[in-house]
Amino acid sequence: MINITKTCLSDSVNSDKHEVINVTKTYLPDRTKLDKYIDKIYSTAWVTNNGQLLKELTARLEEYLGVQNLLLVANGTLALQIAYKALGVNGQAITTPFSFVATTSSLVWEGIEPIFVDIDPETFCIDPSKIEEAITPETTAIVPVHVFGNACEVEKIENIAQKYGLKTIYDGAHAFGVQYNGESLLSYGDATILSFHATKLFHTIEGGAIIFKNKEDYERAKLMINFGIDGPDSVIELGINAKMNEFQAAMGLCVLDEIDTILEQRAEIWSHYENALKDIVQLQKRNFQCTNNYSYFPVLFENEERLIEVKNTMNSAGINPRRYFYPSLDTLEYLHPQVSQTESRNIASRIMCLPLYPELRTEDADLIVMILKNDSK
Ligand SMILES: *Cc1c(COP(=O)(O)O)cnc(C)c1O
Repeated sequence: MINITKTCLSDSVNSDKHEVINVTKTYLPDRTKLDKYIDKIYSTAWVTNNGQLLKELTARLEEYLGVQNLLLVANGTLALQIAYKALGVNGQAITTPFSFVATTSSLVWEGIEPIFVDIDPETFCIDPSKIEEAITPETTAIVPVHVFGNACEVEKIENIAQKYGLKTIYDGAHAFGVQYNGESLLSYGDATILSFHATKLFHTIEGGAIIFKNKEDYERAKLMINFGIDGPDSVIELGINAKMNEFQAAMGLCVLDEIDTILEQRAEIWSHYENALKDIVQLQKRNFQCTNNYSYFPVLFENEERLIEVKNTMNSAGINPRRYFYPSLDTLEYLHPQVSQTESRNIASRIMCLPLYPELRTEDADLIVMILKNDSK
């Protein structure tokens, strides 16, 4: 570490010029616009249960994303759980150990045993060449993740699923708006889920969606998210409550109006980082067949020690990058047996996501780059 840099940074913190810079900052839309939607909700007092704004958001998202059978739900984790239920997933499901904990915990919560298949250490997505050897008579599904919006090798995965009669449910929580070979990446698999949590690229405060390949699965899931209720006096399916409400939909409609600007601003910072850092730290190898939605900027260090050094320097300058994803999910205490996933543990120990959001100022990005350059020497 170079001390003079650290001293300068603490000085700038002390001078109160900096607000804390977190890995992300929730995008809040124009208040006047949001108020107009809230007025609409007040005028009808229809606050949830398939309301007008929810219908409007559904239609606009289907158009924007270029998908069909999109079902809005209360959050991304419920989206996963509903997708498994609607598609009849049970027994074992093959998944990746390198993801946010919800990918695995949602399986365990539904009584499905997660079977990990290690990742490709360059793309950070599940390694398709290792999937077949993990399939057993109990396997009913594959649950891959488009990590940091980078497309999985969908063709290879689909071929395996077809060969063994497995369902595929993609965790596309990071893949909002990503195109693959000119069409939506989100239309792959029997289902793809999205998270609209406040920290995500597009958000509804809390929220999520499931995009189904088949209309029948969509219809079943639609019943499931509302207790299986079919009409005033009719319950025809086992269900739960996973509905999105009108206030969430109002937020979504406002953010969606701004999405192109959000993407442009993210792209600018993303490229700024890439240009400055590509020769200094290892970056994610992107699938060349998919577009970038600039949702994360992960950097990979030589080792964990280096990562911790850089993180500490940043923290003392009021900058809070996050160790995404850490720890590797094959180390979760509630999983038995834990089968060690070498690549995932290795990557998880030395990866960190840099702050990236529309309002991040260039000088702050430069400061982050400077710390990385000094500390990586
Ligand atoms: C955010 C996230 C989820 C969970 O979504 P919530 O809306 O927070 O429930 C699931 N998987 C991944 C990869 C995520 O990043």
